Amino acid sequence: MLAVAWLLAAAPSAIRASATPTEYTKNQAPVYDDDFIGPAPYKTPLYLPTADGALSGRIIAIDAGHGGYDGGAKGGAGLWEKTYNLQISLALKDQLTAQGATVIMTRDGDYSLADFRPAIRKKRQDMERRAQLVLAGGAELLVSIHQNEYRKASEHGPQVFYRADCAAGKAFAALVQTNLNAELLPSSHRKANVGDFYTNSLGIPSALIECGFLSNPTEEANLRDSAYQRRIASAIVKSITEWFAQENPPAAAARENR
Ligand SMILES: [Zn+2]
Repeated sequence: MLAVAWLLAAAPSAIRASATPTEYTKNQAPVYDDDFIGPAPYKTPLYLPTADGALSGRIIAIDAGHGGYDGGAKGGAGLWEKTYNLQISLALKDQLTAQGATVIMTRDGDYSLADFRPAIRKKRQDMERRAQLVLAGGAELLVSIHQNEYRKASEHGPQVFYRADCAAGKAFAALVQTNLNAELLPSSHRKANVGDFYTNSLGIPSALIECGFLSNPTEEANLRDSAYQRRIASAIVKSITEWFAQENPPAAAARENR
């Protein structure tokens, strides 16, 4: 931490001045650490229903993983994970609002919710602000969209994660995993797994969805394809619809104090 403070103090004033955030701009061109424009103030991208449907009256949160300075994993085509996450999240938002849902997105462009300075603990600040948007907006359910990677290129297929002690998350993640397997990879026997992720700790039913592996060239090409992205979205919508159609859904574990 001392080293970071020293670097900032030692930076030429011209560099520091040019790096000062001006205003919050959504849907900006790809941003890099040094020209990142911080969200001040940040707002909830809220999408209202476009039609009546099975999800009328529901409020659902979509967290497109990473964004802005945080690219996540890098795909074989040179695209950052944040790009696939956003495209799939926007497709999901379109399908959910068409089924009557109100959708809260933690981001709807290429940005993070962290301040430009200080440069430390940005990930933490980004995640806490995402949580704030989701909970303040009254979301009843949260899906976080990510892509996987692995050192073995042969690894492929969707993988869903839930919080270990959350009965709701476990049941919801199982639904999503089943529907994604059926839609994308019927031969897969993969089951939803326990995973320790911040977005699964908020006290509402939630799942973190790794849609596929960027380290597998065939799957990476699929994940870039808008028709394939819409198929992912429709399997998630099916799962969410099935979730809310339950008579007695299992309860979510209380929010974790992190
Ligand atoms: Zn990720």
